[in-house]
Amino acid sequence: MRSIQLILTSLLLLIFSCNSPQAISTPTTPVLGQLKVGFDIDDTVLFSRDNFLKAPHMSDDPDHLDYGWVNSHDSLYSVIIEPIAELITWFRSKGHEVYFITARPGPNGAFVARHLSRTLGFQIEMNKNLFFSPKRKDPVSGHRFTSKHELISELGLHIFYGDSDTDMVAASVAGVRGVRVVRDARSVDAYSRNYFGDTKAAPLADAPFTEAGYQKFLAGGVGPYGETIYPIYLIVQDSTTTQE
Ligand SMILES: [Mg+2]
Repeated sequence: MRSIQLILTSLLLLIFSCNSPQAISTPTTPVLGQLKVGFDIDDTVLFSRDNFLKAPHMSDDPDHLDYGWVNSHDSLYSVIIEPIAELITWFRSKGHEVYFITARPGPNGAFVARHLSRTLGFQIEMNKNLFFSPKRKDPVSGHRFTSKHELISELGLHIFYGDSDTDMVAASVAGVRGVRVVRDARSVDAYSRNYFGDTKAAPLADAPFTEAGYQKFLAGGVGPYGETIYPIYLIVQDSTTTQE
């Protein structure tokens, strides 16, 4: 099963590597056949729910976490997501470049770089292959929006893996392929605000998917933004499904 996924992924990526968006400015001369692959961190590379749940708050605002604390506690409370670690290893074994872009603010970001380096087994450095790209707020509308698309474009990425809607939006705005990494069910329980992942509440205008709808997306392999789904957890398989 995993080998078929890797083969399909490689074919998909070869197709897209031949069709890079024109608007992207690359800092270095592209190497023919070499892909630049981006990954979100939380719920994509790291199962970090416990880190976030334990983190102190800077104010009464539930979103106002002490990210300096979060960034320095992954080694204690976050767990690598093995299927993605294997995918990253596979990309690098084929000579492709791997980057990380997180929406976490950057204080103590060197701890994240060190933890990922130790866990994934290669050198990861801030502002080289690890970037902190917090959401910004439009002063007029008050809307918060992802800024990841800017780095995706500047780095000249060809594909971006992430678990959240904003990852898919960022990839789409940057004009590259977004691949949805399916969240661990425990994170879906803890963070139900995500448009795609909010399957716990009754259907609402801004969160229309039920658990049954969610399973249909997983079974179909295509998310609500038309993105490819990378189901790293075997939550859609039943006893009649065989693994290869
Ligand atoms: Mg994430």
